[in-house]
Amino acid sequence: MIKWISRITGAVALIALGLGWWLFVGLSKAPAAAPGLVDIAAWRAMTAADAGAKPVQIRVLEVGRDSAPMLAARAGAFGGKWQTSYNAVQIVYPDRTLVIGGALDHLTSEGMVQSQADWQFDDAAYDELTDAMLRADQVLMTHEHLDHIMAIARHPDPDALAPRLVLNAAQISALPQFALGELAPALKGLSPRLDGAAQQVAPGIVAVPMPGHTPGSQLFFITLENGQEYLMIGDIVWSMTSLEELTMRPVFTQFIIFDPNEDREAIRTQIRALRDLMQAEPDLVVFPSHDRVWLDELSSRGLIEWGFTD
Ligand SMILES: [Zn+2]
Ligand SMILES: [Zn+2]
Repeated sequence: MIKWISRITGAVALIALGLGWWLFVGLSKAPAAAPGLVDIAAWRAMTAADAGAKPVQIRVLEVGRDSAPMLAARAGAFGGKWQTSYNAVQIVYPDRTLVIGGALDHLTSEGMVQSQADWQFDDAAYDELTDAMLRADQVLMTHEHLDHIMAIARHPDPDALAPRLVLNAAQISALPQFALGELAPALKGLSPRLDGAAQQVAPGIVAVPMPGHTPGSQLFFITLENGQEYLMIGDIVWSMTSLEELTMRPVFTQFIIFDPNEDREAIRTQIRALRDLMQAEPDLVVFPSHDRVWLDELSSRGLIEWGFTD
């Protein structure tokens, strides 16, 4: 009898260990190679003729912040905090601007609190974002998740916003589920203005479809007039340490956060491709949406500025 109990206990412990490994550690490493996924030469060629017309600055407006265990952002990362930023990006030209990302509104942010101690929301910054969208030539997004589109789906002046929106089909189809009540008529039936291939959207800016985190996910390759190049990677990773460690979010995030699930195999491959690109192009500034520590570092190096300009 004792023997049977100890065998059963051992089996249960093994299953629990296996389950824990699967949920928090396993199946999250990038493959050894990801040939052909990113083609920086092609992106550069698309903006080669833009000299004299390229943007001069990248600015990041933070509307909210929070923190969570790093384990949520990177499989196997037991210990450490992921300092989370919720923000939108402004691309500044001498005579105009573009906005990328709709961040989240107060109500959505309150529903996503991870750390009571670190959570903050800046209502004035959110108003600044919705105003800046109306001054922008174009408003784009990296992807269609709720923390990237609320200032679009819930914009106070949808009629003025709609003509500025440059979205792909998957992003447009996501908008209704994030509206409060009915989506504003101006935001219904938008036509895609991005065709699903890598394409130039403005001088010095190329949108690069990269489905995986969501069907409508895309990168933005941005070249400033001074030659500095950037790659906005949205939520392919939440922390730059995922690129350093070649390790994506753990499987358990699928169950508690994503619906529908991410395409984990696509993301693992993208992580490898991005890491290889960073090693081949050490001056390229790669930045994800939510890594507050990395954004702060870029700010202190003068590579981005916090806050939007008028
Ligand atoms: Zn996302
Ligand atoms: Zn996000």
